[in-house]
Amino acid sequence: LATEESRASATPMMEQYIEIKANNPGSMLFYRMGDFYELFFEDAVDASRALGITLTRRGQHMGIDIPMCGVPVHAADDYLQKLIALGFRVAVCEQVEDPAEAKKRGGKSVVKRDVVRLVTPGTITEEKLLVASESNYLMTLARIKGSTDPQMALAWIDISTGVFRLAETDPSRLLADILRIDPRELIVPDTAFHDASLKPVFDVLGRVVVPQPSVLFDSATSEGRIARYFGVGTLDGFGTFSRAELAAASAAVAYVEKTQLAERPPLGRPERESGASTLFIDPATRGNLELTRTLSGERDGTLLKAIDRTVTGGGARLLAERLMSPLTDPERINLRLDSISFLIEEPGLCSELRSALKHVPDMPRALSRLALDRGGPRDLGAILVGLEAARGVAAFLGEAMLPEELSAALTDLKSLPAQVESLLAETLAEELPLLKRDGGFLADGANAELDQVRALRDQSRKVIAGLQLEYAEETGIKSLKIKHNNVLGYFIEVTAGNSGPMTDTPEAKARFIHRQTMANAMRFTTTELADLESRIANAADKALTIELAAFDHMVSAVTAEAEAIKAGARALAIVDVAAGLAMLSEEWDYRRPIVDASRMFAIEGGRHPVVEQALRRQSSGPFIANECDLSPKDGGEFGALWLLTGPNMGGKSTFLRQNALIAILAQMGSFVPAASAHIGIVDRLFSRVGASDDLARGRSTFMVEMVETAAILNQATDRSLVILDEIGRGTATFDGLSIAWAAVEHLHEGNRCRGLFATHFHELTVLSEKLSRLSNATMKVREWDGEVIFLHEVGPGAADRSYGIQVARLAGLPDSVVARARDVLTRLEDSDRKNPASQLIDDLPLFQVAVRKEETRRGASKVEESLKAINPDEMSPREALDALYALKKQM
Ligand code: ADP
Repeated sequence: LATEESRASATPMMEQYIEIKANNPGSMLFYRMGDFYELFFEDAVDASRALGITLTRRGQHMGIDIPMCGVPVHAADDYLQKLIALGFRVAVCEQVEDPAEAKKRGGKSVVKRDVVRLVTPGTITEEKLLVASESNYLMTLARIKGSTDPQMALAWIDISTGVFRLAETDPSRLLADILRIDPRELIVPDTAFHDASLKPVFDVLGRVVVPQPSVLFDSATSEGRIARYFGVGTLDGFGTFSRAELAAASAAVAYVEKTQLAERPPLGRPERESGASTLFIDPATRGNLELTRTLSGERDGTLLKAIDRTVTGGGARLLAERLMSPLTDPERINLRLDSISFLIEEPGLCSELRSALKHVPDMPRALSRLALDRGGPRDLGAILVGLEAARGVAAFLGEAMLPEELSAALTDLKSLPAQVESLLAETLAEELPLLKRDGGFLADGANAELDQVRALRDQSRKVIAGLQLEYAEETGIKSLKIKHNNVLGYFIEVTAGNSGPMTDTPEAKARFIHRQTMANAMRFTTTELADLESRIANAADKALTIELAAFDHMVSAVTAEAEAIKAGARALAIVDVAAGLAMLSEEWDYRRPIVDASRMFAIEGGRHPVVEQALRRQSSGPFIANECDLSPKDGGEFGALWLLTGPNMGGKSTFLRQNALIAILAQMGSFVPAASAHIGIVDRLFSRVGASDDLARGRSTFMVEMVETAAILNQATDRSLVILDEIGRGTATFDGLSIAWAAVEHLHEGNRCRGLFATHFHELTVLSEKLSRLSNATMKVREWDGEVIFLHEVGPGAADRSYGIQVARLAGLPDSVVARARDVLTRLEDSDRKNPASQLIDDLPLFQVAVRKEETRRGASKVEESLKAINPDEMSPREALDALYALKKQM
């Protein structure tokens, strides 16, 4: 499209279009034409298909019809929303001069146009395009080649709220870190995008990943760019950042500048997050546990949905954020728990707070739109209502002896700018229009001049109503009406048959000036009417000018206090989350967990938060609470493992998951569904639950299972919690049993983590004789008259059988097949009795040696990795020597 020939043969408008299009590769171009945004060529084809709008043609280009479609400007948000949701990016191109200017230039001059904004999934601010309960993060990934290890960092920004954070990461935790933040758009340098070692990560993320030229990530200019954005001379006051963090942050800022063009969204200063301060949840675990999305991608049936009792958008976002990133610092966790305890003890206060919070609109997002010059009167209204509600919340809180977290929130609420609130309260009308250009958002009495102009306008309208009567009498036409439309303004209308008295005499003709003849009506005006009309129009113009000036004044007053308003909004979110969790705890009898730095994991009467609620909804009987104790035994240092056996449908998966969920809830600072819980901080949580197929990526179920198991055995520490369900099921019995056997030994001897291991292989239960921290537990069943009854109760010991055949019968397998299966089973059991696998325990010691060997091997591979990262051609002799020493140290 952008070739010389193509340009030369284009009309001036098309020429302009082609040039703008060429400057914005990768984006659909919304080209402003009067009241429409028009799309051409392939954009038109794509958009018409995506939006279901008609594809037409406009003129020809190089002898071929130009496909075209258009969307009305007033409805553009809806269309943008659809396109963004489908993963498109849109460049919005506006007329940037008055069409009259272009006319003055004469000839073939086209109105100047320019792209004023790129709409991308990570940089939207419109209420319609955003989900209230979800953050909308734009994330960047930067890599810096260091002299030894390459460094990696992530930066993430929510321009709709101004949140700006940074963290270092490394290839092994990259995907987990990204999924924890769950960005809408991940900006990566071209070079990284094409790097084979990162491909698996980007494959998982799919369309979210957007490559950008590597210059955007240039670390040499990064400090300067960030400092310029924040209008400071140096970043010293912001804290210390690594080079990779700076590169990521500056790329994020550069991308915001690139997409927002004219405007600067008010970002908070970049805050650093250390990976060690949050519970590491690996990607598979995050998916399997269905924290914020189910495996099929839905919100219903997730832990978040089950625990969310917040009443504000900001509260919902904060809750989700806490759930996605539970903490590892007992002190910080306990501060959050203190807030909940306090509110439970003050139920009256809790419900007052919740009802005050219900009125809180989305202040940070309204603020952001105002600062970006995309806000309307309703955004100012939102700030006003938010400030009023915040005062109400502060008043309720002010009466109590608050725990630390809430008391800090109260301080922020008290620092909200009262003068902004009173300015808005005095100035804004009750009912607010969506757009400022519609006017009418200033209250009566807010501006004396405006009141005068409005009085004039209203009076003129009354005079016009009087005129209608007057003219009707004068002409004797009872049906004469004075009407108004946008083309003619005010006019007199009579039916065609009645028009005689206005056209018959020269005097009448002079008085009633003919304007328009319709099929069955005629329209006239008079000098009086025209005069009134222009007075009204002038008044309206003047009124709008006054209102717009007042609007700008209010916006500057609000944005000048952006920091305080954001802090206040954050405080409201904190109160909302605490009150919501207090409410949840009352509703479902959750209890405060003891969270400390020990390696305890003792849960009594634990329940699965999601299943429990589902059972109640379906009235399918009570959830059976269960105990789980993985605490160190007999004064030992390390936590314990449970080997869980029991029939299918016995409740093993539910039990495994519920304990992982309780750990997450406790560490995000929530009460937990248990009679009591004592949890020593978990640093990493791993789970291998169920068979999540990954066939689309060409891996068999078994391969996926092994990859995930490998990740766990390689990464779990003695502070980790590991949940393994049915390892080794996807292969032949002996293979599977051997792998499961070795995995349990490794967890016990190598990782020394706390863990739950559910299995079908009853042979494994003999391991508890050898492994001191391994106990057997089983899901109890009762057999009655050849049928099994699942009690869903966990108790010590091992299941003696699988009851697979009974379950199969329950599922409706034909009787003949069930009977035959019983025969086969009896034979197999006979032969096993002669040569049982349990004999292995006596013949197979020596796992510790294996572990040690593996550690040596891991050491070697670290050296290999470091060696790979070294490029001798780029090193000074001194650097080379340093690198050599560093390598030697790693041996
Ligand atoms: P398994 O993993 O042993 O095959 P599941 O954990 O999938 O079994 O549980 C099977 C069914 O039993 C689930 O649908 C669940 O509703 C029910 N269930 C599990 N645990 C309990 C419990 N503690 N109390 C009540 N019902 C339970």
